[in-house]
This record gives sequence, C-alpha cells and structure tokens, in this order.
Amino acid sequence: MGRGLSAQEFIAYAREQMAGIESLLERHRRTGPSCGCGRPLPCPVEETLRNRQEHFSTGIALAERTVQLPVVVPVPVNVGSHSRPRTARFRWCAWLIRRAT
Ligand SMILES: [Zn+2]
Repeated sequence: MGRGLSAQEFIAYAREQMAGIESLLERHRRTGPSCGCGRPLPCPVEETLRNRQEHFSTGIALAERTVQLPVVVPVPVNVGSHSRPRTARFRWCAWLIRRAT
C-alpha cells in the first residue's frame, strides 16, 4: 500500500498535469463555429480538460494554503480551581432539594 503525496509532491504533480492540460487545450481553441479539433461546440473534450484544470487549480490553491500547526501538549489543569468547592455546591443543591420538598 502506497503512502499519500505530501503537499509539495501534490503541487509538483498538479503543476505537471496543468502544463499537460494547457498543451492539450491548444488543439481545442475555437476557430469559428466549431472547436479547433473539428467537433461541434461545446466540445466535450475541451469541457473535460477545463474541469481537470479547475480540479488541479483548486487542489494547488488548497495545498499552498496548508499551514503546519504547532503540536499541542496537554497541560495538567486543576479542575474546579476557579469554582466553588464541591462540598459547597453539594450543600447548596441539598438546600434547594430540601426547600422544594
Ligand atoms: Zn475540441
């Protein structure tokens, strides 16, 4: 089982793909009522290539925005240090129960 691409590897791969797509699109320039490849408009090959171009363009934009986040180390926290002691809360609850009954 292979490993996934790193962000840098993906960007390099996607840029290669984009260059290839750009080269292929040269044959599909509109030259009049039909596509440069001779197909009627809209050319399905051109649409497919444009979709792939958009896919890789979006992928590159996302990969370039990826930021390495710092590693968070758990810090021991004194739970309840800023609240009233449990016994005081318990007494208050007990007082409420007694009052309600
Ligand atoms: Zn075409």
